[in-house]
Parts: sequence; C-alpha cells; structure tokens
Amino acid sequence: MWFDSHAHLTAPDYDADRDAVLQRAKAAHVTTVLTIGSGYGLAELERAPALAARHDFVYASVGVHPHNAALLDDSGRSALRAQLAKPKVVAIGECGLDYHYMHAPRDIQQKVLIEQLALAREWNLPVCIHVRSDDDSAYDDLLAIWDAENDGTLRGLLHCYTGSLAFAKVAVAKGFYVSFSGILSFKKSTSLRETACALPLDRILIETDAPFLAPEGLRGKRNEPAHVPIVGETLARARGEALETIARTTTQNAKMFFRIPE
Ligand SMILES: [Zn+2]
Ligand SMILES: [Zn+2]
Repeated sequence: MWFDSHAHLTAPDYDADRDAVLQRAKAAHVTTVLTIGSGYGLAELERAPALAARHDFVYASVGVHPHNAALLDDSGRSALRAQLAKPKVVAIGECGLDYHYMHAPRDIQQKVLIEQLALAREWNLPVCIHVRSDDDSAYDDLLAIWDAENDGTLRGLLHCYTGSLAFAKVAVAKGFYVSFSGILSFKKSTSLRETACALPLDRILIETDAPFLAPEGLRGKRNEPAHVPIVGETLARARGEALETIARTTTQNAKMFFRIPE
C-alpha cells in the first residue's frame, strides 16, 4: 500500500487520460491519493473535491497557492469556504510562501497564508505547506507566522521538502510533518537523502507532486501517482529500512495526519 500525499490530478496534463492515470495508480498499489485543490487558479477550486467525490481512493485539499495569492478576493474567499464544506476535503492547501518565483509580493503571500491558517483553525483541518526561497527568508517567515498563529491546534505538513536538515529538525520539534517527492531520488540530492535519513520515520510522508517532478529515470516526463513507490524505494534505501516498513509507515502517517479512517 502507498499513499501519494500530494498530486495535482486536476492538472490539464491529465485531461486526455485521467482515468487511465488513476487505474495505473491502483495497479501500482497506491491505495490513497490526496489531490491538491490549488495551483491552477481560483476558478479551479471546485475541481479537486469533485474528482474526490467520483473516486473512492482520492481525497482532496482546497486552498490558495502562494503563486495565486494576489488573486484572492471576496468571491475567492466564499468559493474557498463552499469547497471546504464538501465531503472528502481533508486539508487546506497548498498554501505558503514562494520567494523563488515571486508571482505575488511577499506581504500579500504572508497575508493570504495567515488567512488560511485561520481557516485551518476554524475548520479543524491540517495544512499542506509550500515553502521555497533561495535563502532562508521564506523558511524564517513561515516559522514566525506559524508561531504567531498556532493556538496549539494547527497541524502542518511541509510538502516537497527541499530545505536544510537544520530547518527540518526545528519544524519537526514544532510538530510539523515532512513530505518528500521524487527530488529525493535525483542523483544530486545527497544532502536531501541525509535529511530524510535523520528525521523520525513517524513524521515522514511521501508524494509525487505530479504532474511535476518525475523521479530519477523518468525526469522530464509527466509524473503520476503510480510513481510514488519510486520515492518510497529511495527513502527505504537511504534509511536502510525494509520497503514494506516504509510503505506501511508513510501510509499510516498520512492517514493519521489527514484523519482518513482505515
Ligand atoms: Zn508546492
Ligand atoms: Zn503542488
């Protein structure tokens, strides 16, 4: 069994063969996929919960990606609330801070993240967090915002983690979970594999971030949830643990984090 904790199944990349992609995921023993309801513009918010409603092994998040932060207005806010109320919506996100691409100014990204953390408290949902910058600034700002907003009930997942071991240790001590993508399998990702090796396994999830970030051997191709076992195999090798242990534990961690019943 495998749990892909972050895939963009509503991406236009899958419009021609989405059902086949889902079938291949099942054939690869991927028993649960969280499809992310953000990243393709606010007009797309309803698509992830709708997809989850059609497939028993798909769950959804909804949120505003930092790339789209400047687009959030009052109609986006009410659309967000309407989708949060849908069945099988188990998380808010992905939201966060991206100072690498800077599609929205930093202060707006921060404000929209703070708004979504308030929603997470109100709806009692965990948060899928995207954080990226070429220095420590987005990571530092994230922790400052998190500390200010966390009333003790917030639960966060750092998705597609590529930061330092030092930051990951601080985040785990604050209660965060950490998810690794196909980047873990890239040849140059030696220090990321060391990070994945040093963290407690009960805080680790895995993901594809499909259609992006196809793992080593498939780089440059369209990614899909059927490839999440490759991330798991990389993690098993890096940690020197049995594949079965990695599959079972990362799946249990994800189910506990997203409160998905067995
Ligand atoms: Zn992301
Ligand atoms: Zn994503």
